[in-house]
Formats: sequence, structure tokens, C-alpha cells
Amino acid sequence: MLENSEIQELESKLTGSLLRPGDSNFPSTVTGFNLASSYSPELALVAGGEEDVAEAVKFAAKHKLPIRILGTGHGPTVHISDGMLIVTRNLNRLSINPETGVATIGAGLKWEAVQAAAAPMGLTAITGSSPDVGAIGLTLGGGLGPLGRSHGATSDYVKSFRVVTGDGELRTASAEENPDLFWALRGGKGGFGVVTEMEIQLVELPVIYAGALIFGTDQIEPALRGWIDWTGSAPEEVTTSVAVMRLPDLEQLPEPMRGLHGLAVRFAYPGDAETGEALAKPLRDLGTAMADMISELPTSMMGLIHNDPTDPMPANDIGRLLSGVDQDLATAVLSQVGAGTTSPLVVTEIRQLGGRLDVDVPEGSSYGGRGAKFSLYSVGAPDPRLAESVIPQALGSLLSAVEPWISNQNTVNFAGKFESWDHFRSAWPPEIFDRLQKLRGKFDPQGLFTYGPTPD
Ligand SMILES: Cc1cc2nc3c(=O)[nH]c(=O)nc-3n(C[C@H](O)[C@H](O)[C@H](O)COP(=O)(O)OP(=O)(O)OC[C@H]3O[C@@H](n4cnc5c(N)ncnc54)[C@H](O)[C@@H]3O)c2cc1C
Repeated sequence: MLENSEIQELESKLTGSLLRPGDSNFPSTVTGFNLASSYSPELALVAGGEEDVAEAVKFAAKHKLPIRILGTGHGPTVHISDGMLIVTRNLNRLSINPETGVATIGAGLKWEAVQAAAAPMGLTAITGSSPDVGAIGLTLGGGLGPLGRSHGATSDYVKSFRVVTGDGELRTASAEENPDLFWALRGGKGGFGVVTEMEIQLVELPVIYAGALIFGTDQIEPALRGWIDWTGSAPEEVTTSVAVMRLPDLEQLPEPMRGLHGLAVRFAYPGDAETGEALAKPLRDLGTAMADMISELPTSMMGLIHNDPTDPMPANDIGRLLSGVDQDLATAVLSQVGAGTTSPLVVTEIRQLGGRLDVDVPEGSSYGGRGAKFSLYSVGAPDPRLAESVIPQALGSLLSAVEPWISNQNTVNFAGKFESWDHFRSAWPPEIFDRLQKLRGKFDPQGLFTYGPTPD
């Protein structure tokens, strides 16, 4: 039991705020994007700076409080009822060196802020699909995005991290300083400490040729089958994905998406429109799209390729890597979410990986998806009444249907909620997992940063 005097002593050292259940702004402070998560920690620190984080970690270590981190709350569903939550949303330092193109990004920032600042300089960050996701949260898991095949993972671009490790020390992790911690944070995700900011290389790329084709219900099957065939010869500079969508008729959605049961084919080419148009032609020829939203696009608007939701919602989802795709896989997916089915799954997505994603950085990194050819992701309707059994059943049925194509390895940003020790292990190749576990023990010897299930 924490004494009031001890909490007050910690408070006196902080520039940010320390909240407890019962404080009026506690609920809004501990709520993020995924409303299926419930955060009820004993203490929530809204960190005002990296010194606050260091003080809080020392306090937690002294009182044996488990620590969790809340960035934007886009992570998998978690239920927390103890310990300390470190909320990073006010760590929002952002600067870009115009000469080197290196951005310094605080842990509270979403990608949209980074892209907005980079765009006037003709620069872009290599990000994930959604501008609403936390820059650091995504990067710690590697980061698979719409430019993945041409540019690799987000973590490939990191120059350094500032991190408060489990011993309360504020460290720099880079190729020169603490290189083992640097290796771990480029894909190893959790269990090391709180990253307060990172330096990342932006790339010169003001405009891309990108967007999505939307096919109606009757064309889900031919377009999906055609895309699968096309991926066998897809050029590496092009990144594409498909998503069977069954969307509600909501005003917030752009017009062709409202109430849609159809297939979105997403396309991104980091070059000129003329070449991009030629590269996109086989996809336009997949059928008659009801909407063609592929065009020249400022990279600051890359979020339009996937059009991920930005309003908070409960997200019950699964993600896996696939060892390959073929027409039998198409049949299996269509049996679950194709025309004529009823399903509570609102988005079922397959992304083509490969290309630069297969190439590790020269100094090595712990990102666990290299070599995988495709990813699968599916999310249920944002309806809490379906969360208990209807959505888990539908997700389970999808997984059973595609079981022969599921790779025995995953990548952490797509692994969803860890269901078991084996599931946790599978987010990295075995040798990377073992090294990560050793480094978790080194940098967080007390195991304060609760991460992953306990071994079976
Ligand atoms: C709509 C949507 C789209 C997505 N698209 C992609 C995508 O295209 N590519 C991709 O790779 N991933 C994608 N993701 C997954 C996303 O990258 C991860 O869930 C990521 O962890 C979210 O980080 P966050 O800070 O936004 O979320 P949070 O829920 O706040 O954080 C999730 C976890 O990240 C870690 N973390 C966050 N901040 C810190 C920090 N400062 N220090 C240490 N650890 C920290 C913690 O382990 C924390 O529990 C998507 C998720 C959603 C919901």
C-alpha cells in the first residue's frame, strides 16, 4: 500500500501531473484509441519531461510497482488494474534539421504531426498506414507501412533513442552508445524502458503516386483473385494491399466507403505519375472500380491510402504473417468475408511484404518480420455487444480457414494481444527472441516493464 506522503514526495519532484483513480481527469487521461482496453492503474503519471519519467521509474522500482506505457492507445487490448501508467502524450518535442533531414520526435507525437512538419521541407517519414498512431510505439515494433517494399521498416531509419531503462537511468541508445539496447529497440518493442524521444532519418519524397481502388461486392472475388496472381510478379518499388471491407453507414466515412461491402486495393509507388500509372494499370484492369482514388499524393497525406479510422473505438483484432498466397487462400478468405457471407469482421486485410523489408540494417536490428511475404489482419465491428463471443468466433473461424498459409513466425505490431507464451515467442525468430529476453533482463532487472505473458 502506497503512503500518501510517499506519493506527495514524488509529486513534488515532477513537472507533469500524477493522477489517482477518483481524480476528475483520471478517466480521460487513461483512455486511448482502443476502447476495448481498460486502464485502472494505482497511479498515472502524465510525464512533463524525461526527468519525470526517470523519477517515476525509480519510485516504481522502490515500491515494486509494475509499469505500463500509454502513448496513443493504438496497441492491442490490455486490462490493467495495478501499478503505474506512464502517459507520454505531453512529451511532444518535434524538430527537424533541414540540413541532415533528421527529425527528433517526442514520445507523445503521432505520425501526422511529424508528416505535417516534414512536408514543407519536401521530406517524409517512412511510417505505418495510419497518421493517428504513435510515432514511437509503431517504431519500437518495426513499423510496416504503405512504402514498406520500396523503403523498408520504420525502425530501419532510427538514428538514436533516449530511453529511461528499468534501473531509472536515462540512456542514449544508438549505433555508438549502448548498441545492444539500440538493436533491441528497433523491433523488440517492450520490456526495456520508456522511450522519451527518438531521432529518425526522413527521406526526400514530397509526392508519391498512390491511393486506393474500391471494388463493389460483385467484384470482391475477381479483384482479390486477380491481385493474388499479380503479386507473383509485383515490382519491388510498389507496395500494395487488399482489404475486404464491410463498413457501417457512418457520416464520418468518405462517400465510397459508407456502408460498403467491397474490396479496397491499395497502391503506393514512390515516383512520378507517368511511371506510377503504368505500374498501377494491371490493378485498374482487375475489374471496374466503383471509385478510383489513385493519383499523385503529397506524402503528408499518405494516410488516405488505407483510410484507417481515427475516432477511438473498441478494436478486437488478430494479425498473422502468411508464408504465401494462392487461389486456395482466396477461396478460404472469401468463405469467411466474401460476397454472400454475413460477418462481423469489418476489415480483413492482406498486405504484400518483401522487397526492402527483407533487408536488415547493416548493424542489425531485432525487427521480427523479415523474410515474410504477406501479412493478414482482421478487425471486428466496433460494437461492444459483439466483443464477448460473436467477434472472437468470427476471428477464430477466419484463422482456421487460413491456417495452412499462416507462418510460424509473426511480427510484433501485427501479433495482437499475446494469448500465450508461444504466441509471444512467435513475434520474433527464436535467436532474436532469446537475445531480446537477455537484454530485457539486463536493462530491466526487476521486470518492472510488464511485457508478454508469464512462461507456461
Ligand atoms: C488503426 C491502426 C493502424 C495500424 N497500422 C499499423 C501499420 O500500418 N504498421 C504497423 O507496423 N503497425 C500498425 N499498427 C499497430 C501499431 O503500430 C502498434 O499497436 C503500436 O504499438 C501503437 O503504438 P501507440 O503508442 O500508438 O499505442 P499504445 O497503445 O499507446 O502503445 C502500445 C505499446 O507500445 C509501447 N510503447 C508505446 N510508446 C512507448 C514508449 N514511449 N516507450 C516504450 N514503449 C512504448 C508499449 O509497449 C505500449 O504498450 C496499427 C494500429 C492501429 C490501431
